[in-house]
Amino acid sequence: MATIRFKALEELFTRQALKIDLPANKTSEYYGVNVFDKRKMKEYLSNEAYNNVIDSIEQGGRIDRKIADQVSTGIKAWAIDKGVSHYTHWFQPLNGATAEKHDAFFEPFDNSSVIESFDGSKLVQQEPDASSFPSGGLRNTFEARGYTAWDPSSPVFIIEKTLCIPTIFVSYTGEALDYKTPLLKSLAVIDKAAADVCNYFDKNVTKVNVALGWEQEYFLVDEALYNARPDLILTGRTLMGHASAKDQQLEDHYFGAIPLRVSAFMRDFEIEAYKLGIPVKTRHNEVAPNQFECAPIYEEANLAVDHNQLVMDVMKRVARKHKFKVLFHEKPYKGINGSGKHNNWSLYTNTNVNLFSPGKNPKTNLQFLTFIVNTIKAVYDYSDLLRASIVSYSNENRLGGNEAPPSIISAFLGSSINNMLDEIVAKVTNKKMKPDEKTELKLNVGKIPQILLDNTDRNRTSPFAFTGNRFEFRAVGSSANCSSPMTFLNLTVANQLKLFKKDVDSLINKGVKKDEAIFQILKKYIIESKNIRFEGNGYSKDWIDEAKKRGLSNITDTVEALEAFISDETKKLCDKNNLFTSKELEARFDIRIETYTKQVQIEARVLGDLAINHIIPTAYKYQNILIENIKGLKDVLTENEAKQATKTQLDTVKNISNHITMINVKVNEMVEARKKANKIDDMRKKAKEYSRNVKPYLEEIRNHIDKLEFIVDNEMWPLPKYRELLFTR
Ligand code: ADP
Ligand code: MG
Repeated sequence: MATIRFKALEELFTRQALKIDLPANKTSEYYGVNVFDKRKMKEYLSNEAYNNVIDSIEQGGRIDRKIADQVSTGIKAWAIDKGVSHYTHWFQPLNGATAEKHDAFFEPFDNSSVIESFDGSKLVQQEPDASSFPSGGLRNTFEARGYTAWDPSSPVFIIEKTLCIPTIFVSYTGEALDYKTPLLKSLAVIDKAAADVCNYFDKNVTKVNVALGWEQEYFLVDEALYNARPDLILTGRTLMGHASAKDQQLEDHYFGAIPLRVSAFMRDFEIEAYKLGIPVKTRHNEVAPNQFECAPIYEEANLAVDHNQLVMDVMKRVARKHKFKVLFHEKPYKGINGSGKHNNWSLYTNTNVNLFSPGKNPKTNLQFLTFIVNTIKAVYDYSDLLRASIVSYSNENRLGGNEAPPSIISAFLGSSINNMLDEIVAKVTNKKMKPDEKTELKLNVGKIPQILLDNTDRNRTSPFAFTGNRFEFRAVGSSANCSSPMTFLNLTVANQLKLFKKDVDSLINKGVKKDEAIFQILKKYIIESKNIRFEGNGYSKDWIDEAKKRGLSNITDTVEALEAFISDETKKLCDKNNLFTSKELEARFDIRIETYTKQVQIEARVLGDLAINHIIPTAYKYQNILIENIKGLKDVLTENEAKQATKTQLDTVKNISNHITMINVKVNEMVEARKKANKIDDMRKKAKEYSRNVKPYLEEIRNHIDKLEFIVDNEMWPLPKYRELLFTR
């Protein structure tokens, strides 16, 4: 009888090539057709409504009910023209997915008919029966209900036949129950703080926007093989699997030709993304086999976050058509590079200046340095919080895995900017600078653009790297919602910019000239945050020792790393900037550690089941074949000959027995460890127990299983192997 694995392989090999109808049109002809963008607003809204919505998008102004009614009428007309029947508030609850609750447009009209109805109240606010979304106890303590509220800064869009309205999700007492609410708040905080600092250099700056360009890595796996791997289905990663004889050693996958079936999938999902106005631009193979990346052109951060969530949905949906499964898990395969989601982050003014792009003259370059130095200082002061913003159970195996940034947060600036900072430290004094000293320093500052032009040094091992005109936060996991890292990065940098303004103003008030005051404060910050700057190899063992000497924290345990969310320091920071209340922080912490615990628990159960129900029975069967073979040889050979001829088989029989015994023992121990952990009421202690005393069994058990996979007859092995998962497509 063929195993499930062979059925899956057979299905894969006999599958007909997919016929895909790709539009013959140019991208520009269908780009954004499913988005209620400015052009459609102009067409479907009155001038008054249009201006009001634009003002709300650009200045954060309120939209009153009368206007909301007009807007909803316009949206309805557009949606019905496009054959849409349902609408939903679309939001990003804290369980990491996106949520929707579809309602039909029609309302009963009289007893016999219905009319299409969608008024302002339905656009503006909804009350999803969402009591099962994670809230970290918030809605129990405060109010039993949460509601969703329209976010006009992200446009309404259509998926299949449903109109989706981007919303925030908050409790009736105003606590954020989602990712978007704090992100929007952080964008407002950094806007104000950055614009105030910009005014030292340019009075015309009234608004600063955050730009985000994400790079999404993912694995593809054939659907039939995926369906034959219960661990992939239930946990998103393989909990066992012997390394393939060939995997990524030759690095021949990176930027290689994209396989045909994969490029058909990419083309197809890109078209869907374009229709939603998502500017996905680059695509390529990644380092590991069957690993790929896509990245859009950067956008305003709130929109970029929505687009990333949407792209992940679109990819999963389109993959079904191509009989693929997309794995967004950070580490689906042991020993193979994992997936990340680099967050490219920068700040733009309303005068169209990228604050992380060196300018054309000393003045704009001083502004550039100001933003660089303050960012570095923020990362230094709040590295633990930034780490907390990116850790998760699934990201844990990737971080520090010699392929991804370590759990030590450091920042890379490149040699020219580093030299510039060193020069400021050397040349700026607290005394009044002589005019020629000042001129020299300014001239040198003015030289930055030329130096940067041929400054191609890039450090791929840094978790937070400056890459010419932006910072790249690389520690973010591939399955994460970018909101979390973006919110905390915005918050910490905004807080730092406020401190900077205060420090500089106080020197100015003492009679120091503005430029000198700025130089003096920058010098102070450069010295204070020196230890976070690291230009070397972040993957090396030396760095771990060096970081320790520098006093940088290296927290590899997720549960421990998450504690930064509820430290006094974080609570003070958030309170000062009106971003999270202590309750909200605690709720977020609770949700994260509870999720962590559940994920380890699920993996432990799945592995236990597979070990006992799939692996051990297979091992027995193969062992029996060997035993039969040994018996048979003894029947037909002389005693001496048989002794010789059965030696290998006997060793293997014993070897298999050992592994079976160990698997049984370890599975039982793991069950006991779980029982012990489950008795703990305190969530924090329970999570720690799972991390320290349950999780290690996963590795131990899989090692025995992987050894068995190597020994047992290939035809009998029940689960698709790494070489099949990674190399068939
Ligand atoms: P790489 O893999 O070399 O880092 P990619 O081209 O794959 O580069 O991705 C870079 C991402 O950074 C893209 O999303 C790009 O739009 C974005 N990006 C480029 N410039 C900026 C900027 N100033 N601010 C934010 N994101 C940016
Ligand atoms: Mg990158």
